[in-house]
Amino acid sequence: MANTVINSTTSEINQIKAHYAPFSQPKLPPGAIFAAKAPRFTVTAYKSGKVMFQGADGEKEAAKWQGTATALSPSRSAKKPVTRNLPAGFSDWNVLGSDEVGTGDFFGPITVCASYVTRDQMPLLKALGVKDSKAMKDPEICAIAKEIIPIIPHSVLICPNPKYNEVIRRGMNQGQIKALLHNRALGNVLKRIAPERPQAILIDQFAEKNTYYRYLAHETEIVREDVFFATKAEGLHLSVAASSIIARYKFVEAFSAMERELGRPLTKGAGAKVDQTAAQIIRAFGPEKLAQYTKQHFANTEKAMKLAQK
Ligand code: MN
Repeated sequence: MANTVINSTTSEINQIKAHYAPFSQPKLPPGAIFAAKAPRFTVTAYKSGKVMFQGADGEKEAAKWQGTATALSPSRSAKKPVTRNLPAGFSDWNVLGSDEVGTGDFFGPITVCASYVTRDQMPLLKALGVKDSKAMKDPEICAIAKEIIPIIPHSVLICPNPKYNEVIRRGMNQGQIKALLHNRALGNVLKRIAPERPQAILIDQFAEKNTYYRYLAHETEIVREDVFFATKAEGLHLSVAASSIIARYKFVEAFSAMERELGRPLTKGAGAKVDQTAAQIIRAFGPEKLAQYTKQHFANTEKAMKLAQK
C-alpha cells in the first residue's frame, strides 16, 4: 500500500491535527508529533514537517491537504499566517457560505447548512453572537441558532444514520456524501434568494476543489460559479460561521432525540468513551439497533462489539 508524504508548515500540521482529532492515537512512532487512525487510512505528522498518509484512502486524503497547502501558502516555507486566497475585502461581501457538522462523531447524523449573509445583516448577526463557533459550547450555539434561523435565508440537510450507512455500503465515501449535501444546500439557497445572486460562495473546505467536483459528477445541478474553498472558513465570513452554528444546532437536536429514543445519554466524538456507550447499546438492544444511530464504518463499531462480548 502506497505511502503519501506531504510537507507542511506548523500551522498546517495544527489544522491536520485538529481535523483528525477524533481518530488520534496515543502511541507515537519515533520523531512523530501526532498520529491518527481513521477507518480507511492513517496519518502521522513528524517534527520535520512531513506528514505521511497510509492505507486504502491515504493518497486521496493526502491530496486534500496538499491542495489546501498549495492554495493557502504558495511558498511553503513562509511562516506568515494563511492568506486564504480570497479577494480583498471578502469578509464584507454578500456571501453564501456552507459548513457541515457530525462527520467525526460515531453517534448521530451529518448535518450540512448553507446560509446567505449580506453586508447589511452583519451588524445584527454580530450582535446576536454569530462568530466562529469552535470556541462556543453547545447551549450557546443552540441559542444563537434559534435567533438567526428566522432571519437568514438558509438550507439545512441532514443525512440520517440509516441512509448514511446504506450509501457507504454502496461504495460512497464520506467526502462524496458531504459534497452532495453541500452542493444541494447551496443550490436550495440560490433558488430561495433568486433573482438576487451572492457576490461569492464560500465552502468550508473538506476536499480539494477538483475532488469536490469529481464527487458531484452525477449531479444534475452543480453550483460552480464564484465558488471559493477555504479551511477554517468560519473565521473568514459570517455566512460560514452562521452555517456552522445552524448545522451544529441541528446535529445537537438530532443527537438529543436519539438519547430520548434510546433512553440513555450518548457520547459525542469517536473516542474510547464512545466505544463504552456503544457496547452498552449492543448489550441492551443488539448490534442492529446500534447501527441505526451510528456511522457503522467507524472503527468504533468493531471495538464496541468486542467490549460487548466481554
Ligand atoms: Mn467545516
